[in-house]
Amino acid sequence: MTRTYDAVIVGSGINSLAAGALLAREGWGVCVLERNDWLGGAIRTAEITEPGYLHEVFSSWHPLWVGGAAHARLADDLAARGLEYLNTELPTGTLFPDGEAAFLLRSADANAAELDRLEPGDGVSWRRTLDEFFPNADLAFGVLGTELWSGAGARLAARAYRRLGRTGLLEFGGEILQTARGWLTETFSSERAHGLIAPWVLHTGLGPDDTASGYMARVIAVAIQEGGMPVPRGGGIRLVEALGGVIHDAGGVLETGRDVDEILTLQGRATGVRTDDGEIVEARRAVLANVTPNQLYGRLLPHTDTRTAEAAARFRYGRCDMQIHYALWEPPRWDGDERLGGTALVHLTPGLDGVSRAVNEATRGLLPAEATIVVGQPLTMDPSRAPEGAGLLWIQLQELPWVVRGDAAGELETSGEWTEALREAYADRVQARISRHIPNLESSIRQRVVLSPADLFAANINFTDGDPYAGALQLDQNLLWRPFPGRAGHRTTVDRLWHIGASTHPGPGLGGGSGTMVADALLRPPLATRVRSRLGL
Ligand SMILES: Cc1cc2nc3c(=O)[nH]c(=O)nc-3n(C[C@H](O)[C@H](O)[C@H](O)COP(=O)(O)OP(=O)(O)OC[C@H]3O[C@@H](n4cnc5c(N)ncnc54)[C@H](O)[C@@H]3O)c2cc1C
Repeated sequence: MTRTYDAVIVGSGINSLAAGALLAREGWGVCVLERNDWLGGAIRTAEITEPGYLHEVFSSWHPLWVGGAAHARLADDLAARGLEYLNTELPTGTLFPDGEAAFLLRSADANAAELDRLEPGDGVSWRRTLDEFFPNADLAFGVLGTELWSGAGARLAARAYRRLGRTGLLEFGGEILQTARGWLTETFSSERAHGLIAPWVLHTGLGPDDTASGYMARVIAVAIQEGGMPVPRGGGIRLVEALGGVIHDAGGVLETGRDVDEILTLQGRATGVRTDDGEIVEARRAVLANVTPNQLYGRLLPHTDTRTAEAAARFRYGRCDMQIHYALWEPPRWDGDERLGGTALVHLTPGLDGVSRAVNEATRGLLPAEATIVVGQPLTMDPSRAPEGAGLLWIQLQELPWVVRGDAAGELETSGEWTEALREAYADRVQARISRHIPNLESSIRQRVVLSPADLFAANINFTDGDPYAGALQLDQNLLWRPFPGRAGHRTTVDRLWHIGASTHPGPGLGGGSGTMVADALLRPPLATRVRSRLGL
C-alpha cells in the first residue's frame, strides 16, 4: 500500500529537520527519508576513536543554530526533549607562529581592551564598528535570513531604502561587497587583529580576498561576541534527536537507509518520491529536497529542461576539507597564553596573508605549505564527551584541493588523488605544527582518525568533491544567486517541489535557514486569505 504524508523530505540534514519540525508543529504529517544509516547529515556524534570519546565527526559549533530563526521558535520544544546548550566566555582566538595569541571575547569592553592590547587605538575601531553595525543589524542579518527573491526580500530592500536613503543604501550594498582584507586593513592597525578575524571567513566557504568576505567577517565577529560558541551537551546528536522527536511526536516518520531515486511529478507538480528499492511515498502538499543542484536536476528529476539541467551541471564546488580527530590520554598543554587551553576554537595561522596564501594555493590545486589549522576543544564546554582526565581535539583544515596537483611545501608526493597515504602524511605535517604549540600532543595520542576530502564525499553525497559547504560561495553562487543564477531561491522548475540545504540560500552552516524559509512559505496562508484578513473581511 502506498504511504502518503503532507510533506516528504529528501535527506535529513539540519535544514530538513528544521523544516520538518516547524511543519509538524503545525499539524503536517512529515516523512524524512535519509540514504545514510544516521540522521543529521553533517551533524554526527560518534565514538569513532575509542569508547568514551564522543566526537563531532563533522560539524561541531552551534552559534548559527542558536542565533537562528528556527531555534527561536523551537527552543522550548527542543528543551522539553532534553536539549541543553553550553557556552563559554572564551569562544575563539588565533595563535601565531611566534607563540603570541589574540582572542575574540564576549563583550564590547573585553574586545576593545584585547584589541587595544594588540595595538592602541584598535579598541576604538572595534567600538566604531559595533556602533555602525548595530543600528542596521536587522538588515545585515536579514540578508541571510530572508528569501531574497520574494515579497519578503522586496520588503527588506524597501525597509533599507526608507531607513538609509538612496546614498545610504548604496553604501550599505558596497559594504556587503567588501573583501575581508579591505575591511580589516582599513579598520585595524594591528596585523594580529587581522589574523584574529580573517580565518573566520573560511567557515563561510570564502577566502579573505573574495567579494563579500568582509561582510561575512563582520557578521561572524559580532555574532561570536554576542552569542559565543554554544554546543549541545552530549553533542549535536542531541539536537538531531530533539528535532526528530518533534516530527515523530506529531505522527511523522524519519527513516534511514532510504535513498530517494526520483521525484515523481504529474502535470508539472511534485506528487511524491520513489526510493531505490522501488517504494513510492506520496506527498499531499510538498516535497523538499535537501540535495545539490546536480543531484536535483541531474538525477532526481529526469525530465528537466535542457537549459536548467545544463546550468545545474555547471554548479561549482569549492575548496575541500579534512577533519582530524584525536582521543588523548590527557588534556593538551598549550605553551604561551594561558587562555589557549580554555578557548573553544583556536586558529593557527601566520595571519591575514597566511590565510590568503593557503587559500590561493588550494585553489591552484596545491596542498598549502602553511594551512590555517582550526583546533577545536569541545571539552572546554562539555567535559562529558571524554573520560575523566582525558583530552579530545577536533581539527579542521578548510584549504585543500580536490585534485591534488602538488605540494606547495615541496615535501609530499602527490598523484592527483586523495590516497590513504597522502591523507596520513598531510595529517602528520599538520600534527607537527600543532605539536610546536602543544608539546604533550604526540605523547598523549591514544588514537587518531583522519577524514580526507574523499572520505567526506563518501560519507555525504552533498559534500561533492570534498566540499564541506555543498557548493562554492563566490558571489555568482551566493546570496541573490544561490544556488545558481537561473534558479535562485528555493522554488524549482516543478510546482510543490522545494530545494533546501547548504547549496541554497543562505548557504552552509547549522542555522537551518533554507528549511525555515521554505517551512514559512508553506505555512503562510494563501494570498486570498491574507488579503481578506487585511481588509477585515
Ligand atoms: C566537516 C564539517 C564541519 C562543519 N562545521 C560546522 C560547524 O561547526 N558549525 C556550523 O554551523 N556549520 C558547520 N559545517 C557546515 C554545516 O554543518 C552544513 O552546512 C550543514 O549541516 C548542512 O546541512 P544541510 O541541511 O544542507 O544537509 P546535510 O547535512 O548535507 O545533509 C543532507 C542529507 O541528505 C542526504 N541525502 C542526499 N541525497 C539524498 C537522497 N537522494 N536520498 C536520501 N537522502 C539523501 C545526505 O545523505 C545527507 O545526510 C560543517 C560542515 C562540515 C562538512
